[in-house]
Amino acid sequence: MVVEGRLRTAESRPGFGRPPEGPAVILHFKLLESLRQAIVRDLQRPHPHAAERVGFLSGRFGDSAKSLMILAHKFHSVDDAHYVIDRKVGARFNSAAMRMALQVALSDDVGMFHVHLHPHLGPPKPSSIDWREWHKFVPDFRHVRPKLPHGALILSEDGISGWCWYPRQDAPIQIHRFTSVGLCLRACRRYLIPYFDIGMDVHLVDGGAVIHGQVIRSMPGDQCLRCFGFLRQDLLEKEAQHYGAAGGHPQVIWPNGVLASTAVGLFVELSSPWHFRADARSAMYDYDGNRHIVLLSSRVAAVRDIPCRHFGEVSDLGDPLWSPRPE
Ligand SMILES: [Zn+2]
Ligand SMILES: [Zn+2]
Repeated sequence: MVVEGRLRTAESRPGFGRPPEGPAVILHFKLLESLRQAIVRDLQRPHPHAAERVGFLSGRFGDSAKSLMILAHKFHSVDDAHYVIDRKVGARFNSAAMRMALQVALSDDVGMFHVHLHPHLGPPKPSSIDWREWHKFVPDFRHVRPKLPHGALILSEDGISGWCWYPRQDAPIQIHRFTSVGLCLRACRRYLIPYFDIGMDVHLVDGGAVIHGQVIRSMPGDQCLRCFGFLRQDLLEKEAQHYGAAGGHPQVIWPNGVLASTAVGLFVELSSPWHFRADARSAMYDYDGNRHIVLLSSRVAAVRDIPCRHFGEVSDLGDPLWSPRPE
């Protein structure tokens, strides 16, 4: 059994702009696993003359007192025609590529992260050329969007590392934590393991707090989290936008206890069913923490007869982090 927990804290708050409070600030970068895989596939495409490809990932932000959440928004690949021939580096792009990326930062009001791939397994480390190039163009993004963090990411075949330039700070900060949302579910599908997800929100409304959450059991071959309307880019963006609004550390032990215990109950129902209504299908339960109620979600009936189409590709089989490379 695999259980992946997730805490979301929520309430409307104005835009981002606070600098980190010293070295204790935690930088947490989140992206959908489907987006990470799409980026790797894009960067692995051969180019007519460049040895490697690069791109830009736009990001939105949520901050609390001690942490900054960076949420990947959209990947912008560099057009084939915007690479210039330079044998000294793997890839060099021209001013048109840079103008496109700067325009995205300006019109979408996002931070921009340069992305490239180191084709190996394990954590990728920047070369001296990487640092030299980043120092050349990251200041342009800071000029266009001075109140937002910008940076650079390196992907490997199974890893990621990154650095972030904060507003009004010259030295970049290494990103501490990366979460690939949906990776765990993908691994469970591959190895035919039932997957349990628990998550909750805390909203501040009229001076009080509203707690709600959900428990999802996803069975291999049956509905997945995406079928139930989870793992969506807009939900992640909402999460980043409201991050930390209920305080950096809201008291969530007891609601998480209810959710985790319900997940254990759903597992026991699978392994030793004690009643005739027990089935081994995917299910989602909504939790109302203010009224202390857990109920079968109305979404279950809505998608019950719709087969899951989210895990039908060849890359969904085999090692969850491996995908065939173009020759
Ligand atoms: Zn590199
Ligand atoms: Zn699905």
